[in-house]
Amino acid sequence: MSTNPKSKWLVVGGGVMGLKIAKDLVAKGQDVTIAEAAPKFGGLASAWKLGDITWDRFYHVTLLSDSYLRELLDELGLEKELDWVETRTGFYAGGELLSMSNTAEFLKFPPLSMFERLRLGGTIFYASKIRNWRRMEKLSVEKWLRRWSGNGAFEKVWLPLLKAKLGEAYKQTSAAFIWAHTARMYKARRSGAKKEMFGYVPGGYARILERFCEYLTDKGVRLLAGHPVTSVRQCNDGSPSGQLEVDFGEGRIERFDNVVSTIASPLIAKQCEELSDQEKQELNGIKYIGVVCASMLLKKPISPYYVTNITDTWVPLTAVIEMSTIVDSQTQLDGQHLVYLPKYLPDDHDGLQESDEDYKEKCLSTLEKMYDHFSRDNVTAFQIARAKYVAALATIDYSTRLPPIVTSVPGFYALNSAHILEGNLNVNETIRLGEDKLAGEVWTDYLSRCKAESA
Ligand SMILES: Cc1cc2nc3c(=O)[nH]c(=O)nc-3n(C[C@H](O)[C@H](O)[C@H](O)COP(=O)(O)OP(=O)(O)OC[C@H]3O[C@@H](n4cnc5c(N)ncnc54)[C@H](O)[C@@H]3O)c2cc1C
Repeated sequence: MSTNPKSKWLVVGGGVMGLKIAKDLVAKGQDVTIAEAAPKFGGLASAWKLGDITWDRFYHVTLLSDSYLRELLDELGLEKELDWVETRTGFYAGGELLSMSNTAEFLKFPPLSMFERLRLGGTIFYASKIRNWRRMEKLSVEKWLRRWSGNGAFEKVWLPLLKAKLGEAYKQTSAAFIWAHTARMYKARRSGAKKEMFGYVPGGYARILERFCEYLTDKGVRLLAGHPVTSVRQCNDGSPSGQLEVDFGEGRIERFDNVVSTIASPLIAKQCEELSDQEKQELNGIKYIGVVCASMLLKKPISPYYVTNITDTWVPLTAVIEMSTIVDSQTQLDGQHLVYLPKYLPDDHDGLQESDEDYKEKCLSTLEKMYDHFSRDNVTAFQIARAKYVAALATIDYSTRLPPIVTSVPGFYALNSAHILEGNLNVNETIRLGEDKLAGEVWTDYLSRCKAESA
């Protein structure tokens, strides 16, 4: 390798992170290939066919404050098409569906006394003002919420919400989790009008990803779908054609100067045998939250709320997400209504393997109990998506135990969403992280290796 910074890079994983890294590397004049295991690019943001429409496998919305994502959409020529819609939030509590979309409704929230409501509101406001998230990382989320909201609001609101989102893993979770969620939701509200505005690109992520892939192809990136990277190892034969040997399975082997792996941390530990024991331990030490998520098309809507949070513990769902309160039913969904029914679970939970029939029955019988007017005859399509590795769990002192991005294997970089520290998992943070860490740690190491080799 010479100081001339053109070398051969492989990006492993064709989710948003991989695509963004490929984009930035090619902009730096690099020779870039991106390998995705699935037949299509997009990862968690990818789309599928549900009945006769194509929409995201997992629900996605964009916030007005998602500046990194909006800048990317601008480069792809899609930003101006974003459709912004004011949203409403519901709560299912005590067997009742309640609106919680503004302060007046919040102040009437029946499960809590006025004192508890004020403490709950004060906690959310206080969390939104905190800048020093590292302090939050040192305390358990339960301890912090009990301290600020009091036991009443904690037991009646926070605990059911935490269990719905994290299962029993909430016990290991730090207060940084609630800080990140509050900060994002606060940003969703327009400062003046205090309205919650969410946006989407017509055509959904299928359209964004298609345009992104075309953009990369035009810039000269080689896109390989259906190419799972089974191993990466050093070639110590002094060959000039590259220093890392990559196995794509089925006898497909190729050499690269550098590899950036964007896949989940425990998978990176398996992918590169030559990482040190310490690095493998750190990668395997990251615990993830997974998700089972049903997508359902309906003839009629079920509620006016984009998200209905659930505090009744008998309900086996994290929330009800009515996407068609945002996405236009007539122009995007063939006049139908789209609802997602997610259940988040720790990555080792058996529930992630629950059969499609069982989860479907659970969802439909739950909706029949929750909504008097709901009938399964109203459902025209129903499909279930699963993902084991969605978001790294924000455990106590999480940031101090992160594995390195620049690894002990020269040219092998481990850069994935587990490094998001200042927010919850979302596309905007994923893009921001990819941009910052590639320009920072990865590029600095790459240049210093180039310099050392040419000296
Ligand atoms: C239910 C749900 C709701 C969400 N809602 C929103 C939202 O409203 N707004 C928002 O902004 N974000 C949302 N997100 C988050 C968003 O989807 C993620 O931030 C983003 O997609 C993460 O991208 P990534 O590239 O880091 O990871 P991934 O999408 O997981 O990409 C990793 C890729 O690596 C591939 N891979 C794995 N192993 C290999 C291998 N060995 N070789 C090659 N490839 C491999 C995978 O197939 C995958 O495509 C949501 C996510 C979920 C699950």
